[in-house]
Amino acid sequence: MRSLEEAAREASTCTKCRLAEGRTQVVYGVGHPNADLLFIGEGPGFHEDKQGVPFVGAAGQLLNRMLLEIDLPREEVYICNVVKCRPPGNRDPLPDEIEACTPYLREQIQLIDPVVVVTLGNWATRFILEKQISISRVRGQRFPWSGRTVIPTFHPAAILHGGGENSNQMTALRTDFQEIRRALDERPAPVEEQLGLF
Ligand code: URA
Ligand code: SF4
Repeated sequence: MRSLEEAAREASTCTKCRLAEGRTQVVYGVGHPNADLLFIGEGPGFHEDKQGVPFVGAAGQLLNRMLLEIDLPREEVYICNVVKCRPPGNRDPLPDEIEACTPYLREQIQLIDPVVVVTLGNWATRFILEKQISISRVRGQRFPWSGRTVIPTFHPAAILHGGGENSNQMTALRTDFQEIRRALDERPAPVEEQLGLF
């Protein structure tokens, strides 16, 4: 298997779908290459496209706050999206664009090998769980998936565009992040520790 860096380098010049035409740059992903926790969003927005980093705009600020609340530095997790290039005007990605791009995401998951995968919003959740479910029905639940635990939650942007700080959605997001923390705390210790080498 190639490294995450090599995969990112290939993606940076990708023209496999029409989203290549409107992008400033490919937003492959950011974070710890062996993170235990992986976040998957939908696709880059305006600021992400300009900076080349996922979740740096308003939704990213909210994500950062939620990470702080559960004592998890952003550098320790990995953050990426279902599609790596910004859809024009932030429209939803089309099925053929998702199909063209998701081999990158599948490879990313294999390389990072996270214990917990958090899908942010409907798009990422439907792609990973392969079901046309609604996020409000499945959020905060744990789903066993390829030897990992998937926990869907609301997309931070949905909260910013919806009820905001005092909404039920925001309370739900907080609750879900506590659940993410618990799932991480329950993960098995690394093999070295189990063998008593440390
Ligand atoms: N929304 C997303 O889904 N991804 C980003 O990177 C930013 C906003
Ligand atoms: Fe390539 Fe994905 Fe960008 Fe399409 S969205 S050009 S498949 S990196």
